Amino acid sequence: MSKRDYYEVLGVSKNASEAEIKKAYRQMAIKYHPDKNPDNKTAEDKFKEAAEAYEVLSNPEKRQRYDRFGHQGVGGAAGGGFGGGGMNMDDIFSQFGDIFGGGFGGFGGGHSRGRRVTKGTNLRVRVKMTLKEIANGVEKKIKVNKLVNAEGVTFKDCNQCNGTGQVTRITNTILGQMQTSSPCPACGGDGKIIDKKPADANSDGLIRKEDTITINIPAGVEDGMQLSVSGKGNAGPKDGIAGDLIILIEEIPHENIKRDGVNLLYDLYLNFVDATLGTSIEIPTVDGKVKVKIEPGTQSGKVLRLKGKGLPNIQGYGKGDFLIYINVWTPQELTKSEKETLEKLRTSENFQPKLSGKEKGFFDKMKDYFN
Ligand SMILES: [Zn+2]
Repeated sequence: MSKRDYYEVLGVSKNASEAEIKKAYRQMAIKYHPDKNPDNKTAEDKFKEAAEAYEVLSNPEKRQRYDRFGHQGVGGAAGGGFGGGGMNMDDIFSQFGDIFGGGFGGFGGGHSRGRRVTKGTNLRVRVKMTLKEIANGVEKKIKVNKLVNAEGVTFKDCNQCNGTGQVTRITNTILGQMQTSSPCPACGGDGKIIDKKPADANSDGLIRKEDTITINIPAGVEDGMQLSVSGKGNAGPKDGIAGDLIILIEEIPHENIKRDGVNLLYDLYLNFVDATLGTSIEIPTVDGKVKVKIEPGTQSGKVLRLKGKGLPNIQGYGKGDFLIYINVWTPQELTKSEKETLEKLRTSENFQPKLSGKEKGFFDKMKDYFN
């Protein structure tokens, strides 16, 4: 695409004065400002084209070269942050202080960032999750009461700051006049004020509305964890950027299973005949029941480990284990005949504790528990 003539871009004559050029550019910068023309590529191109034209024509040396050699004369060699590809937005905004500050002597900061777009506030929701949902991840639909853009709201440039969002103040110092910029109090710094709005909208053009948000919660989250979904929070004031949705995870405790990081812990109470003779028992894990074999002669305090039956790591790799802690249940009520049967066994050699090393004492149990 060949470049348009810079004078034509700004709509001024070849012998326009510096003030005329500045004025023409100021009008175009306001008209095509990206905040005012969101998602409008044509406006953005015009905005950049005008900035580039101004960059050259406002500089006497560059203007002279442009007048003699055309675009060639101020191409790559011109330096100053733009090559053939035009200027980037940051360069353009950093120029604004000079343009909108306008005509003051002395030195000044002058490099305002232009208008500021205000971000909406974050929306916080609590999400309760069962262990099963945490194990597998879940899609939740959540009702929220959030600020959204009201329909039929129109904006106009703030007349106190001319749409720049900045007001400048001049102070006299021994070094000359000093210029300081601060956000415009009338528009809050975004350069826009509401032109028309429905009666129920607030002064930022927003209304509160019930909304249902669908959120995908990954597997492995923990109680107290916060997930942030950017742009799903409250709408920004005056058509600004929406805030974030912050999801606070609340874990619903499981009836029988406790969580320790990615591992799941389960207390199994075994009757002492099953522990002595061995058996097979069904254990409820988060993904349904699992059959577990109990070896004959199983001691209280033994820990069985079901590899990979715990929770997934939130980072997406690996899974924890499901640990079954065995407690041998000692009967507390017996019939007469049960008592008689047991009395016969009381002195039996096989019923005397023998520590062969396979039994678990307190210290061993703790070791098992923590590794
Ligand atoms: Zn203002």
